Amino acid sequence: MPELPEIETIRASLSRDLVGKKIKGAAVTSGKIVRRHKTAKDFRTAVEGHTIKSAQRLGKNLIFGLDNGTSLVIDLDVSGHILRSQGPKDEKPKHTHVVFTFTQGGEIRYVDALSKGELYVSTPPPEGTEVEISKFARLSVGGDGLGLRKQIPELTSLGIDPFEDQIGWDRFAAILRSRTTDLKSVLTDQNILAGLGEIYADEALFAAGLGHDREAESLSTIEIRRLHRAITEILQEAIKYGGSSLEKEPFRDPDGKEGNYQQYLQVYDREGLPCMQCRQPIKKAVNKSQATFYCDKCQS
Ligand SMILES: [Zn+2]
Repeated sequence: MPELPEIETIRASLSRDLVGKKIKGAAVTSGKIVRRHKTAKDFRTAVEGHTIKSAQRLGKNLIFGLDNGTSLVIDLDVSGHILRSQGPKDEKPKHTHVVFTFTQGGEIRYVDALSKGELYVSTPPPEGTEVEISKFARLSVGGDGLGLRKQIPELTSLGIDPFEDQIGWDRFAAILRSRTTDLKSVLTDQNILAGLGEIYADEALFAAGLGHDREAESLSTIEIRRLHRAITEILQEAIKYGGSSLEKEPFRDPDGKEGNYQQYLQVYDREGLPCMQCRQPIKKAVNKSQATFYCDKCQS
């Protein structure tokens, strides 16, 4: 948590009022959050005085293009939140680590209880530099993904983004047929597929009727097509409902509003509850630290 639909919800919300705004200040109270920079001051200097030109997303990363060609990248990891505020008079939540102010007014705050997320400014490699891009992402035939990876060297190893990289089911099939690991591990590996995590991998596998422990290379053509379609459809629906806000993972958008997709989840976090299709209780399997929710009868 958060996964692609939650990050996309944040991106869409911020894009409405941040694009065109000039960053006046960036107050950093935890150096750990900007750890790729030598000092917090280096980070501040890299963003202050620059106008935000675009708000994009790749995998679980938020990317703000700045007017000098650099990009401000925000990775919320497991516990980061972005909150919009009117100004310094609004009370700051605990664990607020970065506060952006804008010459046109308003504030954006980065809050992170575990400090696992990070913010950094990425400089594009010099013109003509050969950029080594993930072999999976290179299968893309369109979309903004390849361009973003060429601009941001830190993101070149990211796998396929289901929306920013265009990849048909036949190329998706080639990827699956090259993997001998289980489906859940393949779907949540950010270097293969960028953006899916526990929730949406489980939901996509249920929608496709596939067992999480199936070897990826064992899928038939029909099963691959079903999985390919399920991933796109589940993510699109979740974006439409503003992501999922679960009790133990209370996602909120920049205005503090919860998502609504949790009420449509078929298997995730439903251990022991009846399957919506066959009424058998949903099962939970734990592998390393990863929990998987599934229906024994509907998924094989
Ligand atoms: Zn079932």
